[in-house]
Amino acid sequence: MNGLMMDYQLTLPSLLRRAEQYSGSKEIVTRLPDKSFYRTTYAESCRRSRALAVALQTLGLQRGDRVATLCWNHHQHHEAYLGIPSGGFVLHTLNLRLHPNDLAYIATHAGDRVVIVDKSLVPLLEQFVDRTPIEHVLVVEDSYEELLSSVDADAWRDPELDENEAAAMCYTSGTTGRPKGVLYSHRSTMLHTLGVAAGNPMGLGVSESDVILPVVPMFHANAWGYPYLATMIGSKLVYPGPHLDPESLLDAFEREGVTWTAGVPTIWLGILGLLDANPGKWDLSKMKGMLVGGSAAPRAMIAGFKQRHGLNVVHGWGMTETSPVASTAQLPGELSEADEETQFDYIAMQGRPLPLVELRNRDAEGKTLPWDGESMGELEIRGPWIAAGYYDTPDQAERWTEDGWFKTGDVVAMHPRGFIMIKDRSKDVIKSGGEWISSVELENALMAHPAIAEAAVIAVPDAKWDERPLAAVVLREGQTATADELRQFLAPSFAKWWLPERFEFVAEIPKTSVGKFRKTELREMFVPADAPSPVATS
Ligand code: AMP
Repeated sequence: MNGLMMDYQLTLPSLLRRAEQYSGSKEIVTRLPDKSFYRTTYAESCRRSRALAVALQTLGLQRGDRVATLCWNHHQHHEAYLGIPSGGFVLHTLNLRLHPNDLAYIATHAGDRVVIVDKSLVPLLEQFVDRTPIEHVLVVEDSYEELLSSVDADAWRDPELDENEAAAMCYTSGTTGRPKGVLYSHRSTMLHTLGVAAGNPMGLGVSESDVILPVVPMFHANAWGYPYLATMIGSKLVYPGPHLDPESLLDAFEREGVTWTAGVPTIWLGILGLLDANPGKWDLSKMKGMLVGGSAAPRAMIAGFKQRHGLNVVHGWGMTETSPVASTAQLPGELSEADEETQFDYIAMQGRPLPLVELRNRDAEGKTLPWDGESMGELEIRGPWIAAGYYDTPDQAERWTEDGWFKTGDVVAMHPRGFIMIKDRSKDVIKSGGEWISSVELENALMAHPAIAEAAVIAVPDAKWDERPLAAVVLREGQTATADELRQFLAPSFAKWWLPERFEFVAEIPKTSVGKFRKTELREMFVPADAPSPVATS
């Protein structure tokens, strides 16, 4: 017997209607290139989103056509997030930190017909646009504005999409092979938005009264869902424009009364350094939570924010293929009275899945491993906002199991309380004498050293042990440390055979286009092609 409930399609135009109805007067603020703040409202933003949908129709676009963006975080990009899918088209966010050759490949593979581009990024676009199928270039604050003002937003009609139609696409930042397109549906986007909106301890616990500033670039994995989340719950949004340096961000947090923000650890390490150097300079008393994800949040950073500045880090894990938020490490109620050190231990893990997301940990033979905090295997995931395939990609079957779970490529152990403990990306794992060494754990420990700003650990070939860890370390300004001192610092926390023989002191750890450690480049720097045995340096 079937239930007798409406077959209501989960599509993004319903978010526009909701925001207009209930949050019309709430603000969307953008930091402009000249650092002034531009203010608009959800009512105006929704009107412009509808105008954009109509404008794209007038350009002759058909349902399902891809519309690219090459933009920083601002209110026009927000309009694109809502307006493009609400016209029945597919928002394709291009990563402005990629090489023009990669952008040419991605825009061609996706079949983009239109691109919305920031004026400051036109020189980048010019380096690849001729090699793509893009027919229309809309420059923000220029031809984009002209097009929008030439149409009547009220001419927009809900295209009454099927919820399984594509809403947006994003290419993975994978360091091996060609980037692959993940194609989000209206349904997956709506359910992901509800998932992250769910209350503590599983979701983010943000509400209408919050002021959200997404530091995460809008070209990285759906901006972690913030444009949709904020529109659904009607919270004030602050977009930082191109100003992502710690000083500008702290300034924006204070001036706009930001209560919730999100970004990768490298951003927060920079912010923590500046706060430490200028205690009390910024009033961040309104800040409720800072979501850190994309790479492991170092425990020392989590503790540093809390103990020295009273600020709460919320740790999240996800992937482009998981929309991206899949888990958050918020404390379960039963640990709310636990001592601070225990709480930091939990927050430093990757947390428990959002509702509707399921996880398992399996070994190379496909055996499901116990959640004992020790057994290491590959994390597998399934749920309504997890990718079931890549767009137009042959030979992708190995990323999904026979029973349809996505293989994340993350090597994990599962804590008995169900918290994910990421040990490594499978390609970064260090296998020494047949045993695994976790680069993430060594990095975390090193970043707790007062002289260290950043640390990344990679595997280097070794004649006897197969592989050994090498630590690349960035010292804080004016600080010193030797390899021996750092080994001694690590010694109480690790088995002797985990300690790196080799430390390299570098000015900077190379980063990927979304701010993660680029370990492939470190390997190129420190593992010569003929791969000699490691030598201790200090
Ligand atoms: P991307 O698709 O570029 O967002 O990369 C996804 C990958 O980032 C995951 O598979 C993890 O390896 C890594 N990642 C994301 N969040 C975390 C986290 N909180 N801790 C450790 N690794 C993370």
